[in-house]
Amino acid sequence: MSGRRDAARAAPPQRAASRGELLLKGGRIVDPRAGIDARLDLRLEDGCVAEVGERLAAREHARVIDCSGKVVVPGLIDAHVHLREPGREDEETIESGSLAALAGGFTSVLAMPNTDPVTDSQAAVGFIRAQAARAGHAHVYPIAAATRGSLGSEMSEIGDLVAAGAVAITDDGRPIADAGVMRRILEYSRIFDVPVVQHCEDLALTDGGVMHEGRISTRLGLKGIPAASEEVVVARDLILAELTGAHYHVAHLSTARSAELVAEAKRRGVRVTAEVTPHHLVLTEEAADGYDTQAKMNPPLRSGRDVEALREALAAGTLDIVATDHAPHHYDEKEREFDFAPFGILGLETAFGLLHTELVLAGRIGLADLIERMSPAPARIFHLAGGGLEVGQVADVTVLDLEREWTVEPEAFLSKSRNTPFGGRQLVGRAWMTIVDGQVAWRLDRDPAVADEPRHAASAAGRRSATARQGKVRSPASAHAREGAAR
Ligand SMILES: [Zn+2]
Ligand SMILES: [Zn+2]
Repeated sequence: MSGRRDAARAAPPQRAASRGELLLKGGRIVDPRAGIDARLDLRLEDGCVAEVGERLAAREHARVIDCSGKVVVPGLIDAHVHLREPGREDEETIESGSLAALAGGFTSVLAMPNTDPVTDSQAAVGFIRAQAARAGHAHVYPIAAATRGSLGSEMSEIGDLVAAGAVAITDDGRPIADAGVMRRILEYSRIFDVPVVQHCEDLALTDGGVMHEGRISTRLGLKGIPAASEEVVVARDLILAELTGAHYHVAHLSTARSAELVAEAKRRGVRVTAEVTPHHLVLTEEAADGYDTQAKMNPPLRSGRDVEALREALAAGTLDIVATDHAPHHYDEKEREFDFAPFGILGLETAFGLLHTELVLAGRIGLADLIERMSPAPARIFHLAGGGLEVGQVADVTVLDLEREWTVEPEAFLSKSRNTPFGGRQLVGRAWMTIVDGQVAWRLDRDPAVADEPRHAASAAGRRSATARQGKVRSPASAHAREGAAR
């Protein structure tokens, strides 16, 4: 067992270790943490990585998967998703969202607390874990509310929430606006060693804005959200993070100046990490031209200059991770006028294809660096198992087909929602197989090289079989389930 795995505090809790062996033959293994980029075989046994090496022999009952022409990477981790359960199960559920995650190559997702009710109690954290265990798709780690009801005034019981399984705290959806409250939260977060994730927005500066304040907003006659709305909060919080020594994490960083502030704070040794979304890396404010509500998100799509700076900051490592801010919304709600449509788009099922097509193939970031920002880095920041393929590590693995050309078809999404500005876009590169705890949890093709049926295939059939694994729930999760059901 590697030391890194011991360091992972939040082991995936939701299922019993799988038995049996999977042998992934002939793939190109890209494991940034181990510095491996080579054609090797990978043996997974009883839910763990058992062996990495050349020409491994298949044992008697092993399932052998031919990965020639594919790229084998540690399972991708999305540190920022909205699963809408409880409260808006018509838009997404923990079951549908964690299945959509698998289809995007994600073996773990971190669920934001702005549900109804808000995830601000041990019972609410337990409910998410229990629902994820019942679904049996990707691992789901709850992020709990930093203040009661995410109302911004009274600090939540951070210790209790962490004890129940929360891996970070945030009031995402809205900022922790009060500097005194933020200081206290940062101080307490140190005791429990969890990052404080901030949605950086000064609501007084946003003042009802609906898109980036600039040339396009002026032309469209829409109220703008200035870049300063984000930057003043980043600047303030970096000072508070330095004061308290806490780990501060910037959610969905979107402007050039925010990236400069983070880079400067990192140089001074402030414990700050930052994430950027795929859409802020590939779209500009121009996407909202024509009042397209699919391009309405918060923070808004920024200027071309900002996008260029974000791409550079991601390649340089100033921006530590890519996270999608997957935000499902009902069709009717996105159909409203621009001013009244909700903010947010889906992210899970398009993230890798977009980033591979627009950044890797364009020479803006190397594949290993992109994988680093989508697996080892989020594992490190949030103290999660996974993020590497060391022997003894949890067998969460994504197999990518980098040559696969495909068209984004929102109707085919496994998410319950369809709100994406990327419908019809041609992409190159896609998850081909997603392995969770040593079991094939999802795959793109029905490949005869794979002996058994996976738990879920890339079709509606996968959805129907989705509840078939309820028997795998371990007793601690069942206890949480009872707790959750009693609410
Ligand atoms: Zn946010
Ligand atoms: Zn969010």
